[in-house]
Amino acid sequence: MGKKILVAGAGHGGLTAAAQLAKAGFQVTVIERHEKENLGYDWFDALNPAVFAMVGCPHPEAAGIPWQNRADVTYFGPTTDEAHKIPQRFTKPGDIEITMERRDLYKLLTGFAEDCGVTIDYGVTVTGPLMAGDRVVGLITDRGDYTGDLVIDAAGLFSPVRMGLPDCLGIQKTVLKNERIYTYRAFYDLPVDPGTVKDVYKVMFRPDPGRDFSLSWIYTRDTYTDLLIGHMEPPGEKEIEEIAERYRRENPQLGKTKLRGGQTVPIPFRRPLAVLVADGYAAIGDAAFMTMPLNCSGISTSIEASKILADAVIADKTETFSAETLWPYQLGFFRQIGKNMAPIALVKDMIIGLTAAETDYAFNTGLITWRELTITADQHSIWQFLHFDPKLPRRGLTLAKDPVLLKKAAGAVADTAAFYAWMQRLPKQFSRAAVQKWARGYDKIFTHRL
Ligand SMILES: Cc1cc2nc3c(=O)[nH]c(=O)nc-3n(C[C@H](O)[C@H](O)[C@H](O)COP(=O)(O)OP(=O)(O)OC[C@H]3O[C@@H](n4cnc5c(N)ncnc54)[C@H](O)[C@@H]3O)c2cc1C
Repeated sequence: MGKKILVAGAGHGGLTAAAQLAKAGFQVTVIERHEKENLGYDWFDALNPAVFAMVGCPHPEAAGIPWQNRADVTYFGPTTDEAHKIPQRFTKPGDIEITMERRDLYKLLTGFAEDCGVTIDYGVTVTGPLMAGDRVVGLITDRGDYTGDLVIDAAGLFSPVRMGLPDCLGIQKTVLKNERIYTYRAFYDLPVDPGTVKDVYKVMFRPDPGRDFSLSWIYTRDTYTDLLIGHMEPPGEKEIEEIAERYRRENPQLGKTKLRGGQTVPIPFRRPLAVLVADGYAAIGDAAFMTMPLNCSGISTSIEASKILADAVIADKTETFSAETLWPYQLGFFRQIGKNMAPIALVKDMIIGLTAAETDYAFNTGLITWRELTITADQHSIWQFLHFDPKLPRRGLTLAKDPVLLKKAAGAVADTAAFYAWMQRLPKQFSRAAVQKWARGYDKIFTHRL
């Protein structure tokens, strides 16, 4: 014990991994580019409240931090009418997420980490990994080099650590166009009585014509309306204003005065990274593309993954933190989360490949139902989509009536089957050649139709 662990970026999973490892006796330093008061974003997020207990972090309630239950979502296609909108329907009380201000969540997580003995160096920008041959031995920063026995990469989607790793490690650096989504988010005034708003949390598939794909929400809170616009390329300022103005025509709850937010931020919109570890290195959170591929929630998953990572590090009695000894993290992540979450990216690719007319058809004919759409950050399983439904034969017939749609759906089903077959071949032990071969096959399942 007493070995030095560096965490690049105060990502959520990075902070909770840091806390668990410091508690176990490691010297842990988190290196974060922002100052403490500027961590996170100026908005709230939804997450599964069960994850706090998983990592030994106090629940926000116990820490005196405000939270509330998330409102249920109502889903709309491009032209969905009142009769065909799809409201979420939770079947278990435990499925309900909570919302918290991101800055409050950061207060909770940094407080937890510091209480466990973690040092957080704020205002330090990591520029890349410090390498000794093929091993990561530290971080290069704008304040000089940091050395450590293990680097946990929690620096987000465009992590300079992951992107700076040598190619021979076989860890993917960049993402393709369809593998991230740019989201504009801002809070506007609420010019109507919130009690008169019928669908408090509207999520709209393909609401913006002429784009490759678009996904937006209008979420009415007590005193403001939360607007999110998601596109495959960052929307410009003028475009955002035009879209918001168009939404206002049917959604008088969306006021004109911007109160908070207004940033455009990319989110991973894809399967998790194929290889999570190298000698002296482990990736977590958005740095490892751990967002749920359909709703892009990544906080709960990254905190859950931090338990798997911390357990693997603590179990490494050799304290070498090599790819070989960190491999149980990869195996644990894919067995517990990745195995059923990754194929949701195939559903996502199918959905973004639908035309507006096909999306409407899926809504209006009952092809898509509340079961598929009652998803949360915690329900990161393809089995949410592949479930028993007595109406399946009727839905099958509806699908068969649209041969193009049928072909797209059949492709997703075939790829899902190929994925599960390939998962059986995930090497049980780390060997660079075998792991890289597996990773190439894994990536190909998701990219061969792009
Ligand atoms: C509009 C929007 C809404 C979202 N809503 C939800 C939601 O409701 N629920 C949910 O679960 N998820 C949501 N997400 C996704 C969520 O933000 C991420 O999945 C989640 O933050 C996990 O990512 P992370 O903590 O690993 O990385 P990040 O949140 O990207 O954190 C990375 C950290 O590393 C730091 N960093 C980056 N580069 C460097 C560097 N070079 N040097 C030092 N530090 C660095 C950053 O400053 C940051 O603190 C949303 C995302 C967006 C954009």
